[in-house]
Amino acid sequence: MVVSSGQQSAAGTTPASTGESASEVTVAEASRSRQGTGHFDGYHPPSAARLDQCVHCGFCLPSCPTYVLWGQESDSPRGRIDLMKGALEGRLPLDRDFLSHIDACLGCMGCLTACPSGVRYDEVVEATRQQLERQVTRTLADRLLRRFVFSLFPYPNRVRAAALAGKLARSGGAAGRMLASERAARLAPRLSSMAALMPQCSTRDMFRRLPRRARPQGEPRMKVGLMAGCVARVFFSPVNAAAIEALTSEGCEVVVASGQGCCGALSFHSGRHEQGVELAKSMVDAWEGTGIDRLVIDAAGCGSTVKDYGRLLEGDPEYAARAAALAAKAVDVTELLADLPPRATRHPLPLRVAYHDACHLAHAQGVRRQPRELLEQIPGVELLPVAESDLCCGSAGIYNIVQPEPAAALGRRKAAAITAAGPDLVATANPGCLMQISRHMAQPIPVVHPVELVAASIAGRNPWSLEERRSLEERRSPDARAAGGRPADGAPGQPSSATD
Ligand code: SF4
Ligand code: SF4
Repeated sequence: MVVSSGQQSAAGTTPASTGESASEVTVAEASRSRQGTGHFDGYHPPSAARLDQCVHCGFCLPSCPTYVLWGQESDSPRGRIDLMKGALEGRLPLDRDFLSHIDACLGCMGCLTACPSGVRYDEVVEATRQQLERQVTRTLADRLLRRFVFSLFPYPNRVRAAALAGKLARSGGAAGRMLASERAARLAPRLSSMAALMPQCSTRDMFRRLPRRARPQGEPRMKVGLMAGCVARVFFSPVNAAAIEALTSEGCEVVVASGQGCCGALSFHSGRHEQGVELAKSMVDAWEGTGIDRLVIDAAGCGSTVKDYGRLLEGDPEYAARAAALAAKAVDVTELLADLPPRATRHPLPLRVAYHDACHLAHAQGVRRQPRELLEQIPGVELLPVAESDLCCGSAGIYNIVQPEPAAALGRRKAAAITAAGPDLVATANPGCLMQISRHMAQPIPVVHPVELVAASIAGRNPWSLEERRSLEERRSPDARAAGGRPADGAPGQPSSATD
C-alpha cells in the first residue's frame, strides 16, 4: 500500500507511535511543504538529469549481484533506474513492489564503476531510499527489525552489550544452539542470520580501549586521526590496534578523538538520511580542534561515507564547510600506508593471500591498487587472483540481516571462489566483508584486514603460520573452530598493541 506523507498524517500516526525522531518529523514537514515531482516529494528526490544519463547499454548487468543471481531486469541497475524514472514521471507508484526491488539492491556500487556513461547510481539510489522510507509503510516485522537494528548498531555501548549477551547465550549452550538451529533459521531467518554473523571475539577485545594519542616512532611525518567505528571498535578492535601499530611504526602520530561515534554510513545507505546527518555532525564535532592532517579509516563502508560528507551535509549552513573539510582529510588506512614510502622493516610472512576487494573500497572509493601494493611490500606474501573479484560478497551493511537469502547465496559464491584460489589466508579491508566471508568459508581459513598483516610483518610475528595455527586450534573453543574466524581470548593473532 502506498501511503503518502499527507496520508500518514491523516491516519493519525504520531512521532511517538512511529518511533520517528524530531528531526525526521521536520523532514516530513519539509517534504510536504515542497513541491514534489511525480510520486517523489520535494525533499531530496533523485535527480532527473542523473537518471537521464542512463542510455540502457546494459554494461552494468554482469557486475550486478542481484541480476547475476536472478536475471530479472527490475533487479538490475538499469531496471532500478527505470523504476525511479517511472516514479519521477508519475507512471509508477511508490509501493511495496517498488520497495522490494530497491531493498534487494546491495548498494555495492558494482554498477557505478561498470557504467561507461557515468551514471551516479549511488546518488540516485540513496535519494530514492529516503523517499521510500518516508512514503511506503513496511510490514510490521520489517519495521520492528529495522528499528532494532538502527537503535543498536550506531551506538557502540549498545553493540557491546548485545555482543556480551550473544557470547553468554553461546556459552550457555541451549540458547546458542537454538539460535543456530535450522528451525530458528526457518522461523526467524533474519534474527538467526544476525546471530550467525556475530564474530567470535574475546571479551578483552570488546572492551579494549584505544589510546587517545599514540606517539610516532622516529622522526614524525604527520598527525593522523583514527576513526574507531561503532561496530568495528567492539568486534574488530584488533584491526584498530593494528592500524595504530602500523601508523606509529611509519612515523605517524595517531589521535583517537573522544566523543566520536558512528559515522552514519549504515543510516545513509538505508535511506535514514536524518539519522545519518545527526551522526555525521557529531563526527565533525568530534574531530574539530584535534589538528589532524588526515583522518584514517579502516572500514571501507565508513570511508566512502565520510569522504562524501561534503555532499551529504551541503545544505546545512552550520556544517557544510566543516563537513567538506573533514571529508577532504579522510583516507583509507591502506591508501595512506601505501603512499608513504615504507620506513619500518617488513619481516617475511610466507603466506598465500587471497585479497577480496570490499565494494565500498574498490567501487565507491576507487581504491584497488594500494591494498595490493601494501601486501606486496611484505616479503613472502604471494597474492592470488580470485575469480569474480568485482562481485559483492553479500555483506553490504545490514543487507545480510535484512535480506539473508540472497546475502547467503552471494556469501557462498564468494567463499567458493576464494577457496578455489587455495589461499592460506584471506585479506579484506571492511569489517562487514570480514564477518560475511568468515561465516561462509567451508574451511577454517583466517580472514583478516590487510593492516593486520602489515603490523604483524613490521613486528616480526606470524600468528597465521601453520605452527601458530595448530597451537591456536588446540586452545580454541569448538564454536570458534567452526567459525574459522578470529582467535579466542588471549590467543595469538591479536596484534599486541603497544598502545593498549
Ligand atoms: S548497487 Fe550493486 S546490487 Fe545495486 S544495482 Fe548496482 S550493482 Fe546491482
Ligand atoms: S551501464 Fe550505465 S548507462 Fe549502461 S545501462 Fe547500466 S547504468 Fe545505464
